[in-house]
Amino acid sequence: MSRVYNFSAGPSMMPEWVLKKASNEMLEYGATGQSVMEMSHRSKEYEAIIRSCESLLRELMNIPDNYKVLFLQGGASSQFAMIPLNLMTKNHKADYVTTGQWSKKAMAEAKRYGTVNEVASSADKTFSYIPDVDAMKFDPEADYVHITLNNTIYGTKWPKLPETGNVPLVADISSMALSEPLDVSKFGVLYAGAQKNMGPAGLTVVIIREDLIGEPQEGTPTMFQYKIHADNGSMYNTPPTYSIYMCGLVCQWLKEEIGGLENMKKINEEKAAILYDFLDHSKLFKGTVEPGSRSLMNVPFVTGDEELDKKFVAESKAAGFVNLKGHRTVGGMRASIYNAMPVEGVKALVAFMKKFEEENA
Ligand SMILES: *Cc1c(COP(=O)(O)O)cnc(C)c1O
Repeated sequence: MSRVYNFSAGPSMMPEWVLKKASNEMLEYGATGQSVMEMSHRSKEYEAIIRSCESLLRELMNIPDNYKVLFLQGGASSQFAMIPLNLMTKNHKADYVTTGQWSKKAMAEAKRYGTVNEVASSADKTFSYIPDVDAMKFDPEADYVHITLNNTIYGTKWPKLPETGNVPLVADISSMALSEPLDVSKFGVLYAGAQKNMGPAGLTVVIIREDLIGEPQEGTPTMFQYKIHADNGSMYNTPPTYSIYMCGLVCQWLKEEIGGLENMKKINEEKAAILYDFLDHSKLFKGTVEPGSRSLMNVPFVTGDEELDKKFVAESKAAGFVNLKGHRTVGGMRASIYNAMPVEGVKALVAFMKKFEEENA
């Protein structure tokens, strides 16, 4: 067996430690005589799995006690509707900052449920930067402010958080969850589809301040009400049991093998620096993002020649570096280097890029 270096934006690489542990426990979890997949979500064995996942998340992310952790389904995309349905309930308006396709989709969905004000956008330069955070003027009457903290497609990350006063800050952290420490108390809601950095697809994690869990807009379907899920410990219906178990293993890996999110951040910074350093000095490749807005997780780059980009994607794939093709709206290439991508994977990619550059410059 030879495993490839997988640079997919999501679903993406999982830590080998996690896959091996899951594989050891596949046929029989503990002494239960069954796989986690086969367990009743109401069993005491499964109750221990979901609560352990939650307590590890709380410990790793230092989540304050007045926040609930919800394990939901429907992806980050369902949160685009759940957030306005549950939070646009006082003044029926919200502020959005557009920094890419995902924030655009989030804003479009919110428009169905109230008045949306676009505070800033980086659409003018294909979302290759984060607009000046200090220049943003937020509406003090807004029910919340929505941002996408790391933009998966364009490879940007907010260099700092906006000051929103008493207005709750809601952030999509799908492509950077658990990649570095975050001060949860600065946010009203954090949400993420798990399939980038937290585990397999099928699980959506929502971290929400308790005072924001109230009566939703009239007509909100039961399954789209935070209150229902919070009151039932994410067990109102069958949760994505196996994905939650896997997320728990990822958290265990982060705690025991990596040593927490400070250490994870150092490793992620080391990986990103290797790639950005090379891009900044290459005669053939160049990064597409302004230096002050660069993501640690998603690194888009181009040669400037579409044919050469295609050749690079094909040759890199044959050499065991897969899913490097960029998003259709940016073109070129994108290397997603989430937590599970080892430093060696990034070094090997850069060595391959150097060789390609010599052969094609
Ligand atoms: C992948 C992604 C999404 C979409 O997630 P789904 O779980 O597929 O709905 C939304 N926002 C960001 C930032 C993403 O990276």
